[in-house]
Amino acid sequence: MPRRGLGLEPPRWLERLAVESGSAALEKAVHGDALEPPAIAELVAEAPLHALAAAADYYARTVKRGVGSYTVNLYLTYTNVCVTACSFCAFYRPPGSRGAYTRSPGELAAVARLAWERLGVREIHVVGGNNPELGLDYYVELVRRLREAAPGAVLKMFTAEEIIFISRTSGEPVSRVLEELREAGLQALPGGGIEVLDPQVQRLIAPRKAPPGEWLRVHEEAHRLGIRSNAIMMYGHVEEPIHVARHLYELARLEERAPGLVSFIPVRFSPGNTALGRTRLYRERARRDAVYDLRVIAAARLALLGRVDNIVSYWVSLGDKLAVAGLMHGANDLGGTFYNEAVIGASRGRPTAGKSPGELVYMLLQAGWRPAERDTFYRYHPPARPVASNTPWLRELTAA
Ligand code: SF4
Repeated sequence: MPRRGLGLEPPRWLERLAVESGSAALEKAVHGDALEPPAIAELVAEAPLHALAAAADYYARTVKRGVGSYTVNLYLTYTNVCVTACSFCAFYRPPGSRGAYTRSPGELAAVARLAWERLGVREIHVVGGNNPELGLDYYVELVRRLREAAPGAVLKMFTAEEIIFISRTSGEPVSRVLEELREAGLQALPGGGIEVLDPQVQRLIAPRKAPPGEWLRVHEEAHRLGIRSNAIMMYGHVEEPIHVARHLYELARLEERAPGLVSFIPVRFSPGNTALGRTRLYRERARRDAVYDLRVIAAARLALLGRVDNIVSYWVSLGDKLAVAGLMHGANDLGGTFYNEAVIGASRGRPTAGKSPGELVYMLLQAGWRPAERDTFYRYHPPARPVASNTPWLRELTAA
């Protein structure tokens, strides 16, 4: 197996722990050997948790030099109209149905301006449904208006699935769509749009979405154009450990072909208000225990070692206590304040109340990290203005 050129040698205690664990995959992982999907699946499903956690936490703190982070970000959705109808999604509405909305670029820019001026947001995270009524000019205008409204915030917008949909409806190739959006001010892709990079899983939960290979190609193209990206994995539904393993393996390969991944964000499926959550398939197959969440985070740290330095413990889906535990199992970051997160919020019937920077700092301290505020690209900054909590005026402005 080739070494991954980490420049990191495991300490003796970790080597011994890995040997004593009886997991061949963990032994390889602590030495930085490239891991094939079966070995990654062994980490996800079988390696003793205490040893897996120790290895992942050791490398997280070594790679990040003890600095744990978060960003101050605003979450905006431009439309919930979507024709793709994924079974796991509580956010979308079919065209013309009750509760369907599309917001104008000017309306969203007004919210972004307030968040920029009053909260000092460093990042604006924008996603939406696949709405056939919107043309490429709408998206370009949206990016341009947000760029003007919040000049110092990074614009992290549109999943690969959205980019593919825009390409299909506009008739422009993906590369052209990305170029036009980049010219307008787009800087990064948030990384969603795929759940697990496996065609079988996708057929079961999102058969109308673009296939995993296309998702990978969009990210590859974006990286080549200088647009960096995150990678999400939504798990905890019908997947098996080998599917998680293939997802991580594909991300590592993507990073070798076209580097540009900033972080990996495992997102636990929230079943509330979803068609998938009501199925027998979900009830019988889903792994819902907290240990699985921690194993996924730890396996991700080791599988992506030397490829993707930032693993996020996503408090929006895990909840606070488990997110803190994730920070002790290989994650180094909490994501962000996520003011008005609306997609997972839809599974709970209300937008997610954002967290103040102070709350995130406290969570990082609980897990033994030196807290730092960062931007989308993990450049560290002095803290933005302190805010006590999510603010009512922002909730009102972004309420559907
Ligand atoms: S996950 Fe995205 S593509 Fe699928 S239904 Fe929801 S909004 Fe549409």
